[in-house]
Amino acid sequence: MSSIALNLEALRQRMARVCEQTRRAPQSVELLAVSKTHPAAAVREAYAAGQRAFGENQVQEAWAKIEALADLRAGLSWHLIGPLQSNKTRLAAQAFDWVHSVDRLKIAERLSAQRPADLPPLNVCLQVKLSNEVSKSGVDPAELPTLALAVASLPRLRLRGLMTIPAPSLDPLAQRAPFAALRTLWDRLRSEGLALDTLSMGMSGDWEAAIAEGSTLVRVGTAIFGGRPTGAVSR
Ligand SMILES: *Cc1c(COP(=O)(O)O)cnc(C)c1O
Repeated sequence: MSSIALNLEALRQRMARVCEQTRRAPQSVELLAVSKTHPAAAVREAYAAGQRAFGENQVQEAWAKIEALADLRAGLSWHLIGPLQSNKTRLAAQAFDWVHSVDRLKIAERLSAQRPADLPPLNVCLQVKLSNEVSKSGVDPAELPTLALAVASLPRLRLRGLMTIPAPSLDPLAQRAPFAALRTLWDRLRSEGLALDTLSMGMSGDWEAAIAEGSTLVRVGTAIFGGRPTGAVSR
């Protein structure tokens, strides 16, 4: 087996164990393999090992891989997890199945208007900026309900849930706090009537804490594909 196949196998086993420990159904947590900076050949290897959902953080880089892997397109789902500028929304609306990083109405409106008519509605998550974060992206929790209602009403988008990228921490308890906060925001939107089914939270260093707090989708790169070259954009 290739190292990617071995890593995937080990990760799936650990995820199953953590689900059991946290009383989650194993099928309730999806694994998104984050392939940014890694070549199309690495995605193909992961596909051969049964992986079907892939995450990228740059539109242009992703597009090159999506084209190189066009023969697998029908079997794959491609997720944009990095920041999206207005001048890239057209390509993003054409190329991806999901965008996790929507944090303003203007971007959502463009994605909805530019989603090709022959494709199903684009799945989106709203990226939320919690207080401990270093990243510039994400909607302020105070503005989240208004944004969520507006995005949910756009015809060519399907609002699926929330995403966050907390500041890295090695302490498992500290890791759980922002995930619990996102879960609370998600529960509140659901109780207000939005049909959300996705909590996109957890990366290589903190996915266990994220599952414990209700994550339905963990975004894992390094633990599957190995390290990225230093200097590569990591978030
Ligand atoms: C790179 C990235 C990941 C994966 O990070 P790893 O630590 O390699 O697992 C997850 N989410 C986002 C938004 C990323 O940019």
